[in-house]
Amino acid sequence: MTADLYEPPVRELLRVGAGRPVDLSAIDPRSTPGLPALSVTGPDRKSWARAEVRRIGDELAEQQEMLHAQAVAGDAAGRRMLLVLQAMDCGGKGGAVKRVAGAMNPLGLQIRAFGPPTEEELGHHFLWRIRRALPGAGQVGVFDRSHYEDVLVVRVESLVPEETWRARYDEINEFEAGLADEGFVLIKVFLHISYGEQRERLLSRLTDPTKHWKYHPGDVDARTKWPDYQAAYTEALSRCATDAAPWFVVPADRKWYRDWALAHLLREHFADLELSYPPARFDLRKEHARLLAGDGLKVNGG
Ligand code: AMP
Ligand code: MG
Repeated sequence: MTADLYEPPVRELLRVGAGRPVDLSAIDPRSTPGLPALSVTGPDRKSWARAEVRRIGDELAEQQEMLHAQAVAGDAAGRRMLLVLQAMDCGGKGGAVKRVAGAMNPLGLQIRAFGPPTEEELGHHFLWRIRRALPGAGQVGVFDRSHYEDVLVVRVESLVPEETWRARYDEINEFEAGLADEGFVLIKVFLHISYGEQRERLLSRLTDPTKHWKYHPGDVDARTKWPDYQAAYTEALSRCATDAAPWFVVPADRKWYRDWALAHLLREHFADLELSYPPARFDLRKEHARLLAGDGLKVNGG
């Protein structure tokens, strides 16, 4: 790491559950936990945060490369990272992927978005499609929606009987604990926007022709069930926040704070891995000599 981590760490400020009740209504979506006191305000504060996200993005890219390099060198721990992003519509999952995950090398990233299950997926256990989408060792995976939809939209829309979705909290905990044992660093993030902010973002999708493709009439139907979704999120976050797979709530009405917080969460989790580049697995001196010995050869007139 090139700079010190914040104290207290951003992740401690954003972590929910783990013995404490989750109360989303007590978390202001416009708040900015952990943001240092700045001498700048207004638009300058936003550009400061944007610049910091770019700077941290460079660090994340280097960390990701080291993670990959360790896997190539045969890291027995099978370490990899999985960022799970959940949000209401317009919550900013797409923007977060673009600005934060986008800083990393696409070769080491595995980004997967989950929509309504296909006919084939519906024929399997709800975790089937999730298992198939998991990042390989050395990779950073990003889930834009996830298995949590199976206790969120599925619950609110009564897509399966209650006893089926109720049993899923334990199944999810068991599944995620297994992943942690296999070397996964799990970071689960709920991007928390307000009802009012969603209205503004939906309106802008209607008025701006370049955003029409993002608008789905069904989003307004889901919006009418806002309290049901908040209740479903509250229970999912409460029941599935574990030490192996913690949940974080990122206030997301301000996009620049959302990206800033997410960049810090990733950075702090990478720091735990204490990554470094693996040493050469060959005789450096010998390889130098072999390479230079070829200098006498005339190739392409060189
Ligand atoms: P978006 O992320 O806005 O592109 O929308 C994806 C849609 O897929 C959302 O409306 C989700 O509720 C829906 N979705 C994702 N997973 C499931 C699932 N397991 N069952 C039903 N709907 C789902
Ligand atoms: Mg949507």
